[in-house]
Amino acid sequence: MKRFFFHATFAGWLSLVTASLSAQIVKEVVPGVVNDKQIAIAPGANQFSGFLGTRLDANAFNRLAKIDEERLLEGFRHRPGRQAWDGEHVGKWLHAATLAWDYTHDAELRVKLDRVVAELGKCQLEDGYLGTYLPEQRWTEWDVWAHKYDMIGLLTYYRFTGNTNALNISRRCADLLCRTFGTNAGQRDIIKAGWHMGMAPTSVLEPMVLLYRQTRETKYLDFCRYILASWETPSGPKIISTLLNSKRVDKVANAKAYEMLSCLNGALEYYRTTGKKPLLEAALNAWQDIVDKRLYLTGTASHHEHFHDDYELPNGNADVGETCVTVTWIQFNAQLLRLTGEARFAEELERAVYNQLLGAQKPDGTAWGYYVQLEGKKPYSAELSGHCCLSSGPRGVALVPTFAVTTDDEGAVINFYTEGIS
Ligand SMILES: [Zn+2]
Repeated sequence: MKRFFFHATFAGWLSLVTASLSAQIVKEVVPGVVNDKQIAIAPGANQFSGFLGTRLDANAFNRLAKIDEERLLEGFRHRPGRQAWDGEHVGKWLHAATLAWDYTHDAELRVKLDRVVAELGKCQLEDGYLGTYLPEQRWTEWDVWAHKYDMIGLLTYYRFTGNTNALNISRRCADLLCRTFGTNAGQRDIIKAGWHMGMAPTSVLEPMVLLYRQTRETKYLDFCRYILASWETPSGPKIISTLLNSKRVDKVANAKAYEMLSCLNGALEYYRTTGKKPLLEAALNAWQDIVDKRLYLTGTASHHEHFHDDYELPNGNADVGETCVTVTWIQFNAQLLRLTGEARFAEELERAVYNQLLGAQKPDGTAWGYYVQLEGKKPYSAELSGHCCLSSGPRGVALVPTFAVTTDDEGAVINFYTEGIS
């Protein structure tokens, strides 16, 4: 089916969107050199009803507003955290809950957000460390990864609230990473600082680029260049070169889908900032390969959390479609839609959101599926313990209002078939 964009020309509607954007979001200090073809919208600029609206509300009020903040902060207050990736949850919640707050403007959720940011800040150590590990375990397994999510959550909250404390906490995290990793004497190799051939730690690229655009601090951009170079070192995952040459995601590093797509989202953010074309080309090759050979009908990818051989898409009890992969695939398409304005990315967003993402969400919003295959029983869970996906799913839903309707040079662009846009 060929999608065509509907360009609204209602001046009142457009001014509503524009006003909502400019009133709420802190502008970036450094604009990207690549202009977006479609502009991501602040969630609160539109309101949705019907099926999508019900699920957005369920996500905001029954999941994000109800989350146990003591549990989110536990691993930071009492190190070490109970699981190796315990530190990722608070940043993912801050990201999702900030977007959901902008959509709902729920006063209680805002109070909770403010309190969690303040309490998280109190857990930051003198040198900027904001993970859940003991000193002797620092920078192993998922420690840089947790700092990535700290920064994503804090920067999102800063942009929507103007709270400079959140920006400062994020900067101190980044400063510590810049001091710790690099090629100078005494610095560590970031590739060796986490799982999946370094794709987990180096996915900190995304918030590091965003922090550069928010501060104009060149050392953050230098750190991004260091990450991109590290990908192509002998022990690195060779993400870009593999995608430019073999054009297959299952040939990149160990083919771990969530971490690879996270890195590619960072690469696209870097492309937006610098205009470095091969990064876009590599991302487009990855997209085409996934859509042609590695995508389920419902719009998710991967089983057992990895990309596999051409058309190897088992169903049943095959650990199909990790929700983290679904959400990161959605983010990837949202990035490409902004950068190119091409309808093919909107098609994949709509497919994945309606068929897989909302299928993984329990209808009342209280719980999520980790893997959600195309048949059988949905294994919902409400606990954070052991489940990366339980803090990823709510991010995916909270992001939907940013791309379901956008604007471009000609006016409003309706990307989703849905009810209740106002
Ligand atoms: Zn997951």
